[in-house]
Amino acid sequence: MNPEFKNLVIIKAVEAYGDNSQVDMAVEEMSELIKALMKSRRNDVDIQRNLHNIIEEIADVEIMLEQLKLIFNCFGFVEREKEYKINRLAEQLERLKDGERN
Ligand SMILES: [Mg+2]
Repeated sequence: MNPEFKNLVIIKAVEAYGDNSQVDMAVEEMSELIKALMKSRRNDVDIQRNLHNIIEEIADVEIMLEQLKLIFNCFGFVEREKEYKINRLAEQLERLKDGERN
């Protein structure tokens, strides 16, 4: 996917539907992903169908997360926070490997 095209569509979606509507939509999409994930824990579901559903809902949530970052004008802050948290996770994993706990 061309990143410029993706960014343009994200901007147009927020402009067309408005901030509040897209925040609501983000919450709705996150709840759909939660539902799909909870379903994957059950024994009586079609694994392939559920996997397709999870893929679809992850895509929906990622698209909505892009819109949230635009609405709250925080792309850079999120990137910095992710970097910090990934580094912290790496340190936790190192400690775990060394047999320590936190
Ligand atoms: Mg969805």
